[in-house]
Amino acid sequence: MTPEQRAAEFDAADPLARYRDSFTLPEGVIYLDGNSLGALPKATPGRMQAVVAQEWGEGLIRSWNSAHWFEAAGRVGGKIAPLIGASPHEVIACDSTSVNLFKLIAAALAMRPGRKVVLSEPGNFPTDLYMIAGLEAQGLAERRLAERGRLEAALDSDVALLMLTHVHYKTGGLHDMVALTRAAHEAGALVLWDLSHSTGALPVDLNGVAADFAVGCGYKYLCGGPGAPAFAFVAERHHADLQQPLTGWFGHAAPFAFTDDYTGAPGIDRLQCGTPPVLGLAALEVGVDLIAEIGVDRLYAKSQALSEFLLECLMAHDVDIELVSPPRSAERGSQLSFRHPDAYAICQALIARGVIGDFRAPDVLRLGFAPAYLSFTDIAAAARHLAEVLASGEWQRPAFRQRAAVT
Ligand SMILES: *Cc1c(COP(=O)(O)O)cnc(C)c1O
Repeated sequence: MTPEQRAAEFDAADPLARYRDSFTLPEGVIYLDGNSLGALPKATPGRMQAVVAQEWGEGLIRSWNSAHWFEAAGRVGGKIAPLIGASPHEVIACDSTSVNLFKLIAAALAMRPGRKVVLSEPGNFPTDLYMIAGLEAQGLAERRLAERGRLEAALDSDVALLMLTHVHYKTGGLHDMVALTRAAHEAGALVLWDLSHSTGALPVDLNGVAADFAVGCGYKYLCGGPGAPAFAFVAERHHADLQQPLTGWFGHAAPFAFTDDYTGAPGIDRLQCGTPPVLGLAALEVGVDLIAEIGVDRLYAKSQALSEFLLECLMAHDVDIELVSPPRSAERGSQLSFRHPDAYAICQALIARGVIGDFRAPDVLRLGFAPAYLSFTDIAAAARHLAEVLASGEWQRPAFRQRAAVT
């Protein structure tokens, strides 16, 4: 059987196949970058039109109450909660992932007086590492990096917070959340998990592993649109002690009392800062509803099947390219990354053929598998294109080597 014939059989048996029609995907495009910017749900434009024309246009300021804008951040957070093993009142949709990292790193440091070290790994997503720098410059934090496998040994009595990304953005490698959370707690440290490449693609059980804090992205697998609000999780046991540095009026216990002094809201609302982005929350809610309806367990099963199938297709085409992702699907997130000195040009040649993956400096070609809308037929075609690009050498054309500002 050819890979295309196998793909047709898998697609016919795929219980999620019908959800492809819930997304807008341009004709002739195979989209393997849903881990960077999720596709557009077909319901989003209509919802946005209603929020803009009716809620804003007609309702004007009354919509804070009548259209429930005021509760949107908590409501959307509550819908994200079951996707990550949290209770609804432990999650809020607000700000960007970077800003949420800042608030929670600072909150963790305040909960561990006498300890300053924020432990992470080299090669973590840049913003995660950069967000420590501002606190370091103010003398509040001290960054420590340890390679995978050496993290446990680096957990001493100076560590206030272990901060890691569950699925590595470049390799797709998974951390063992259970073991690392336990090790951090045994050392007296708190744990912050970045779920940007996990949420909506694989199951996470924050309360099951007793995590303290988490953040994640709204525009990747949750399909909330470019710049969608991110989310933040704080375990209920920390709500009473939570002190975050961005003490804006939306995190106040009574924002509309307009008092001079700050009193933090009692629960997760304390993480809010300024007026929430209502339009962004509306778009995010459509994506979250759709992903929740499909179900994380089914998405994960399909994501693993898609990546396994891509490897099988590459074998069938005798493609020889170095895999940097863990070879076993149980040890990686919803992506496969390959190393090649000309990964950038290969990525551009694939994009010219309608196969959109991405390049991660200096030499990684990253293919993401958003299981909500990809078919096995897409995967077979992508593998064939990659095989042809590599065999033909067409990626060596100068046009494919010119770097754009955003890759
Ligand atoms: C995508 C991603 C982010 C994005 O942060 P923003 O503030 O939304 O730009 C942060 N961390 C990780 C691990 C990511 O993958």
